Amino acid sequence: MTSYPRAHLKAATTLAVFLTVVITTLPAKESAKTARVPVSLSISPVLEPSSERPPYEDLAIESDAIQWTSVRIRPGDNLSIIFGRLGLKASDLQAIVNIGTDVSVLKKIVAGKTLDLQISNTGELLGLRYEIDALERLLVTRVGDRFSAYLDVSEPEVITAFQTARISTDSPSLYHAGKRAGLSDNIIMKLSYIFQWDISFALDMRKGDQFAVIYEEIYVEGEKVKEGEILAAHFQNMGKVYSAVQFQDDNGLKNYYTPEGRSLRKAFLRDPVHFSHVSSNFNLRRLHPIHKRVMPHRGIDYAANKGTPVVAAGDGRVTIARQNNASGRYVVIQHGQQYTTKYLHLSSFAKAVGPGKNVRQGQTIGYVGSTGWATAPHLHFEFLVGGVHRNPKTVKLPNASPILASNMKRFKTSTAPMLMQLSSIVGNTGFARTPQKSPRKGS
Ligand SMILES: [Zn+2]
Repeated sequence: MTSYPRAHLKAATTLAVFLTVVITTLPAKESAKTARVPVSLSISPVLEPSSERPPYEDLAIESDAIQWTSVRIRPGDNLSIIFGRLGLKASDLQAIVNIGTDVSVLKKIVAGKTLDLQISNTGELLGLRYEIDALERLLVTRVGDRFSAYLDVSEPEVITAFQTARISTDSPSLYHAGKRAGLSDNIIMKLSYIFQWDISFALDMRKGDQFAVIYEEIYVEGEKVKEGEILAAHFQNMGKVYSAVQFQDDNGLKNYYTPEGRSLRKAFLRDPVHFSHVSSNFNLRRLHPIHKRVMPHRGIDYAANKGTPVVAAGDGRVTIARQNNASGRYVVIQHGQQYTTKYLHLSSFAKAVGPGKNVRQGQTIGYVGSTGWATAPHLHFEFLVGGVHRNPKTVKLPNASPILASNMKRFKTSTAPMLMQLSSIVGNTGFARTPQKSPRKGS
């Protein structure tokens, strides 16, 4: 394990600043009593994670020092209710609210989290502390009759971690194998998204398949708080090997590429609505269910519950988002020069989807409905190439843009260390060469 001197220094500094503020803002007669608090507090339990504490536990630092009360926020609580429960003054609450947007997070305190309150012996509120998330904490301190707010942002320490795992009889799925190797749900899901274009994790997992993944772990003050992103991964599936490395392009977008710089993702998703089934296929000689005559069905119908999100099949620009008799509410997206996709019978549009708006692949653009000529809730999806309707199920989908030639040098330079690390992990565990053996055996 790594040591975290910076994090500790940071904690101590934060504490010192906080206490200095508290002390300097105390009424004069209190200062003398509290002047020695910083020394004892630097190793005190006050700033430790408070999730294990029972509600209302008094965290007395010293019998004559200022007490902190740690309150577990209950469902339905708001600041006003908590102040009432603790017998704190409504005028103090008002003074805190008056700080404005800096404390707006206190309007949506989350049940189950903890609110720390510093209350003087005379029942006066001196300070309040609320942990927004693992990286941010709001501190509110009394300054005379008023309060001031300070956002304490921890500087996370990002560490690169790696793991390898294999599909076996005991761990027959990506999920099982990943969990057994100690990966979080979050990383397993991200891994499946990276390779979703090439590997069917539902159908194609085989005994002996294996993978290696390099990812970020985020630490704050020596404690792991969450995982970050996957930086590189390697998947050996049914004898084929897939590698992915993350790269941030000139527009700041991060995507995954093969070591040669080809995009892993395709430019279009096959299905723009999850949790659905195809209720009517692309068919140029279909008997129309409402008009009872042969009318070409130039798209695919996905039956799904009303309100199921419909996502953009690819990156593009919305050209139409409106309603008419036949199509109901519908969206048309232009993808570059060649490709157009259409989404019909929506119950509603997603926010921020309108003509001229850019959308990203997978972004929700609307919700399944039955507006227009529709007998039941479904999405009618059309895919056009050069203005001609094509079957979305069978049309050959282009890959997403590869690394531009002008960017290739930067791509190679910035991904080389990660790819070297990846092949060293794979090489050390021997797994690319000897898939039948345990990946841990090595050479
Ligand atoms: Zn249809």
